[in-house]
Amino acid sequence: AKQINVALIGNPNTGKTSVFNQLTGLNQQVGNYPGITVEKKEGVAKLSRTHKAHILDLPGTYSLNASSLDENLVIELLLNKNDKDYPDVAVVISDVENLKRNLLLFTQIKDLGLPTILVINMADRMDRKGISLDIPVLEKELKTKIALVSSRKNTGIDYLKELIIQYQNLSTEPCVNASSIDPTYFDRLRQAFPNQSLYKLWLVITQDVNFGNLNRKAILPDSDFTPKAHAELKRLQQKETIARYQFINGVLKQGFTKDVNAAKDLRGRLDRVLTHKVWGYAIFFGIMLLI
Ligand code: GDP
Ligand code: MG
Repeated sequence: AKQINVALIGNPNTGKTSVFNQLTGLNQQVGNYPGITVEKKEGVAKLSRTHKAHILDLPGTYSLNASSLDENLVIELLLNKNDKDYPDVAVVISDVENLKRNLLLFTQIKDLGLPTILVINMADRMDRKGISLDIPVLEKELKTKIALVSSRKNTGIDYLKELIIQYQNLSTEPCVNASSIDPTYFDRLRQAFPNQSLYKLWLVITQDVNFGNLNRKAILPDSDFTPKAHAELKRLQQKETIARYQFINGVLKQGFTKDVNAAKDLRGRLDRVLTHKVWGYAIFFGIMLLI
């Protein structure tokens, strides 16, 4: 069977490399992207007896509003269907303690129109932090499938493999309707490019990236790309971020709870143990005094 192309994407320190190691075991190699010193990790995962996947561990990135070489690399790959690494499915890795920030990137990737799976990693920390999740609600609201994973405890990885095998069943509907950010602007884009994901076009303009016949000049000619237009695009980009966080806050309100009282963090545990000890000694000495 054909190998499924998978790209692992996520904020730094969410456990991308840990998940990558769980998926690929020893079948991995490390190189560099051509011409730059950014590390390129890729490997093969055996998903089942009949399915294999090529897994690419992409550099950590906070958003698709590129500000660094690493982030640019992720955008270039995701916009370029001709790249041999162009993913059949994107797997966005988030960590359960920073879901809100991680979901910004998730909604951006999903809104490119790619089949996108959400991994919520570090599930082993939920108890200690008093976190509970309503996975079916999160899946429905985010229009995706979610694998709750602990790469440290090796749980949820088999389910992630199943989701990758069935990537063709994923919805490619966007999370945030780009037209809601600025109807006049995006409606014009939609009319001019009816077959493209609006968000993809948006990135091509705002990041000024060129891909095949899709480039900024085709959408917004130089004569229209005035300093004023540039400032306007920056303003729209801020509106986009706000719209995404509004969406994410609404989703988390329904599917995420954090009960600080239930949090069994180490410090609390230590305090409780110490308190017990103090009471223990007090009673012990009290009894000694009485005797
Ligand atoms: P990357 O920067 O996204 O590639 O993240 P890494 O895989 O390097 O992991 C970042 C840190 O998180 C490391 O210290 C890992 O040991 C830790 N980590 C990764 N996965 C888990 C997990 O499931 N549970 C816990 N508790 N820690 C994890
Ligand atoms: Mg890493």
